[in-house]
Amino acid sequence: MPEFEVKVDPNHTDLAELCSMYWATNADGSFTHTVKAVADRYEHPPQRVSKIVSEACFAISTSRRCGGCDKGFVYRSRSDWNAGARYALQSCRTCIEAEKRQENEKRERANAAKRAAVNETFGTIDGGNVPVAKDLDLPIALTLAAAFEDAEEIFNGVTAAIVDRNDRLTPTHDLDFKLIEMIINKGLLQVHPSSTLDAFGWQEDGTPNGNFFPMLASYYLPGEGDVAARTQAYLASFAEVCSRENWPDHWVDQFSEFWFDIATAECEAYLVEALRGYGLEFTPGQKTQDVLRRGLKWYSIGQMYYFIWRAARDSAAYHAKGTVRAKQAANSAVTRIASDIDRAYAQGWQVSTYQRISQLPLSTLSHILFSRALNLDNPMSYSPVDLPVRRAGMELAWHKINSEAFERLIFQLVVETDGYENVEWLMHTNAPDHGRDVSAIRLRRDPLSGHSSQRVAIQCKHWLTRPVRDTDANQAIVSIGHWQDPPFDVLVIATSGRFTADAVSWIERHNARGGRPSIEVWNDARLEFLLNERAHLIRAYELR
Ligand SMILES: [Zn+2]
Repeated sequence: MPEFEVKVDPNHTDLAELCSMYWATNADGSFTHTVKAVADRYEHPPQRVSKIVSEACFAISTSRRCGGCDKGFVYRSRSDWNAGARYALQSCRTCIEAEKRQENEKRERANAAKRAAVNETFGTIDGGNVPVAKDLDLPIALTLAAAFEDAEEIFNGVTAAIVDRNDRLTPTHDLDFKLIEMIINKGLLQVHPSSTLDAFGWQEDGTPNGNFFPMLASYYLPGEGDVAARTQAYLASFAEVCSRENWPDHWVDQFSEFWFDIATAECEAYLVEALRGYGLEFTPGQKTQDVLRRGLKWYSIGQMYYFIWRAARDSAAYHAKGTVRAKQAANSAVTRIASDIDRAYAQGWQVSTYQRISQLPLSTLSHILFSRALNLDNPMSYSPVDLPVRRAGMELAWHKINSEAFERLIFQLVVETDGYENVEWLMHTNAPDHGRDVSAIRLRRDPLSGHSSQRVAIQCKHWLTRPVRDTDANQAIVSIGHWQDPPFDVLVIATSGRFTADAVSWIERHNARGGRPSIEVWNDARLEFLLNERAHLIRAYELR
């Protein structure tokens, strides 16, 4: 039996003999004639024969057949045939397409069944109350608002999946997960049945196992009736308290911890991105978070970016020397950041404030916190020293001591701190508040210039009932200006209370135009922070 059944195109019947000769086979399946023999017989150049044959006819194999419809496969040339021997098709195109169609239909039916099962298990629930922002914890209230917002879009009713957002929900995946999980556990977000089917866990029999993947699911709020109306009600309640002036008291208490969480995540994301820029993959762990969190007590996010940028650059150089593996080089960045922060703090570096990079657009949660809630002009230069509220758990019972004890406490704090020498009381005979100030020489080690010293005056204001105003700062400069022998380089205003916003900006302007002495600010939050590292002073003055 010949291998091929040759079908000649009706327009080329004149070539039928040539085609038959080309496709003729022996009993063992080999071709009877060489292409050269065909060419010679019909007086064509040998290289033209395949083209002539492929235009005039096609050959149907009698041995190679479709596994589906049993039709012989079609060949146009011997090279087709030879290639077909190497890549044997199991089914013809028609059968493959039919099979695909059937599979699609089967999948669609299965998906429809799954969707119906999801609707049954996770149907939209009516019940409970729409959450009211002011009754929630600060991190939850802000995250909930952020979940319904992405770039310019407001999700009216059902959120997008966290993984499908344009803007990130929070600076890191870890923080996304932590906050969303917390909200789900409190029943403040429910999984919507329109979530992608991949968002649900499935049993072998194709029914939902009741679990879901939090980053893949879409959510809606509890409450009665229309889910869009629930979103609107929540966002309206959020708008009422969003701005810091309108925060409920418990948000004020929760703020600093939350700020450190967000700021740490911002720095973590930048560290990963900065290292990635040098081709170094890095996964932050607990140690990274601890180092960043500690640095953020002294430095703004933008200043931390500076430390991170340096560390990434130096880690890349370390890797480029070829003595360490990429992972080890990336991990060394954290150690570099930690030691840079310590040196910068101890030596009083002027640390630059870096700005965001375009690869890391602001997350929706950061945007809501920095811009809408805190109304910060430049969140990157926001420093924890300016924290508008105390850090929870660090409060000291300032009311237990009088101004004299406060002055002694500051004196002792300075005496015990490395880098301060010749600490003395500075007696004013004509001080309006008869307060005693502290004077000291502050020594600084500079790696380039060697040692330098500054004459520092510390003015103590144990003011619990009123904040330090701009006029008080001005008055302090005037009174310290009487000491000209030698003059002071730095005036520290130490208060157990706060500074007004006017005072802070007055001091910033004074320092910016190079006013002497320059002013440094130790407010309640900063003193609490400093004293928390010196527990014996807290005990000695019974401040807690
Ligand atoms: Zn077929």
